[in-house]
Formats: sequence, structure tokens, C-alpha cells
Amino acid sequence: MTYDPGNIFAKILRGELPAHCVYEDDRVVAFLDIMPRATGHVLVIPKAPSRNLLDVEPDDLAAVAAAAQRIARAQMDVFAADGITLTQHNEKAGGQEVFHLHVHVIPRHTGVELRAPLSYKEAPEVLAEQAARLKAALAG
Ligand code: 5GP
Repeated sequence: MTYDPGNIFAKILRGELPAHCVYEDDRVVAFLDIMPRATGHVLVIPKAPSRNLLDVEPDDLAAVAAAAQRIARAQMDVFAADGITLTQHNEKAGGQEVFHLHVHVIPRHTGVELRAPLSYKEAPEVLAEQAARLKAALAG
């Protein structure tokens, strides 16, 4: 299995496609999922090219995990969440659709089920407003 630099997240990293970014450091970028399974659903990706868990450098994986924790803590506040679900898919058989490593960080509310994957597209203005609030929480 090889890394294809034509994938959507590689294009976001190169600035060829837009994204509602909420966090960036020297190793990772995080942005809102355009088809969120719940309000405030964030994707955390390494800047270095890696297809998934099976080929990522351990230091990049650690940086993704640390960013996911920071984002989860901010989501608890910003979205008044009751909990957080992390998911991470590897290869087609593992549910992966975009072949650049990403961790889903999803705010949860008691009694609210996740939407089915790819079932709902969020309005850009809603994503922009959510990103601004998350960014502010992460910067503070
Ligand atoms: P996977 O199934 O590979 O773990 O999840 C891929 C995720 O990428 C899905 O949740 C999907 O909604 C999200 N996604 C697909 N295309 C785009 C895009 O162009 N921008 C953003 N922000 N998310 C995307």
C-alpha cells in the first residue's frame, strides 16, 4: 500500500482545497469534517505524508494523539459535550475513505446517536462559526 499525494487531505495541506482549520503545529493540522457525524466533528492529520496507522512515523502518531487530546478538551467546553468519541480507520476493510492518516474527534451528548457516515453535509457558514469558537478556545 502506497501513499497517493492526490488524496483530499494532501490537497488541503498544500492549500489546494479549503478547510475550516481549528489547530496547527509543526507536525499536525486539525479541521472540521464537512460531513460531521455530530456537531463539532474534527479531523486531526499529520503534516507528513502517511496513508494510515500502518505506515505513520511514531512521532507523528504521538503528535496527532496529543493534538486530539487538546481538541477534545476544547470541544467539551465549546459544544458543552458530555463525552468524546475517537475513531480512526485503516484501509478500505477498516472503513477508511480518505487515504491520509486522520483521527476523528467527535463531541458526544448523552442519548444522541452519531449520524451515519457521509449522511449529512454541514453548511459552510456553520462550520466557519464552529471553527472560530474552537480556535479561540484552543488559543486561550
Ligand atoms: P474515513 O472514513 O476515511 O475515516 O473518513 C473520511 C472523513 O473525511 C469523512 O468523515 C468525511 O466526511 C471527511 N471528508 C471527506 N471529504 C472531505 C473534505 O473535502 N473536507 C473535509 N473537511 N472533510 C472531508
